[in-house]
Amino acid sequence: MRVSLCLLPGDGIGPEIMPQAVKVLERIAGKFNHEFFFAEALIGGAAIDATGGPLPQETIEKCREADAVLLGAVGGPKWDNVANEIRPERGLLGIRKELGLFANLRPAHLFPELAGACFLRPDIVARGIDVMVVRELTGGIYFGEPKGFDTRDGERVGFNTMIYKEHEVRRITAMAFEIARGRGKRLCSVDKANVLEVSQLWREVVLEVAKDYPDVELSHMYVDNAAMQLVRDPSQFDVIVTGNIFGDILSDEASVITGSIGMLPSASLSDDGPGLYEPIHGSAPDVAGQDKANPMATILSAAMLLRHSCNMEQEAQAIEKAVQRALADGFRTIDTMEPGKAQVGCAKMGDIVAERI
Ligand code: NAD
Repeated sequence: MRVSLCLLPGDGIGPEIMPQAVKVLERIAGKFNHEFFFAEALIGGAAIDATGGPLPQETIEKCREADAVLLGAVGGPKWDNVANEIRPERGLLGIRKELGLFANLRPAHLFPELAGACFLRPDIVARGIDVMVVRELTGGIYFGEPKGFDTRDGERVGFNTMIYKEHEVRRITAMAFEIARGRGKRLCSVDKANVLEVSQLWREVVLEVAKDYPDVELSHMYVDNAAMQLVRDPSQFDVIVTGNIFGDILSDEASVITGSIGMLPSASLSDDGPGLYEPIHGSAPDVAGQDKANPMATILSAAMLLRHSCNMEQEAQAIEKAVQRALADGFRTIDTMEPGKAQVGCAKMGDIVAERI
């Protein structure tokens, strides 16, 4: 299969971790007889330095022409004082908007080899953590109108509107059901239907969509309970689907309990255009330029890319298994280092994973 990918290395450790993912993809291409074509474009601080803005038009075009986009990270102290409208993060928000990415997928998977880094009790960890949070990304309270400030009864008020249209709930729910179908076949929809009308509509639409997926077990949970259950017993979850603000909080909670920010990938998807894949961590300026960064979150993002944008499940699993094998063989970057393990740099870790494909 021929696949064209647009790479956006970005800033900080971005240009160090990206070549490691490319190494692994090239290995996959050789093993599975695919052809990957790589284009590269500027985003974030690197784009500000070269063009004066964080998201050049050329970058948008290259992304749109690709089958999928792989991003490193953006931002850093160098651009902390630039004007608000050209901040590096604006590049990220801009490209998500340009590509119509309405679904954010954040797997929180704990590799047994890294169980020591997990924040939960060993007896809870022993049951395993493998949760996929599917968050609606373009609607809900972050974008709802009206919003703003006012003066009412002589005092200042601030307000936002939590609103979902039926079609927005339908498309994210269908996507989450599809994902659950390809995994453990269990979907938990998280809402606050005991208090919010917007959640009552959410639940109604989820139940309608569920009729098309009789093979997937559906449950509902209030968001306050979900936040508690994620730390009490994360093993009960397979796929979680939820709205923008609840997903923002729950996806961070789910991923941070694994304890290893350098290991966590993510995907943002649209209906039919290219998806955007990126590690959840930032540009890590404190370790940038020192060949210390953990490239595994980016490598695992490349696995998600193959699974969700290229329909290459076997190839995605080959990458995930290679990462696990590298850990099982005792190799660690500085962020996951434990006594008795072999510490390696970023580029070496890329080689180690690629060799295990
Ligand atoms: P960060 O994720 O960059 O770093 C937090 C800590 O984790 C640091 O100590 C860092 O060294 C470590 N770390 C993160 N990724 C690592 C990796 N792959 N390997 C080893 N160690 C790793 O978060 P921050 O320090 O809050 O932000 C730094 C910059 O990144 C800021 O400019 C911020 O705006 C930006 N940022 C960008 C994104 C993105 O591009 N999606 C996300 C978050 C933050």
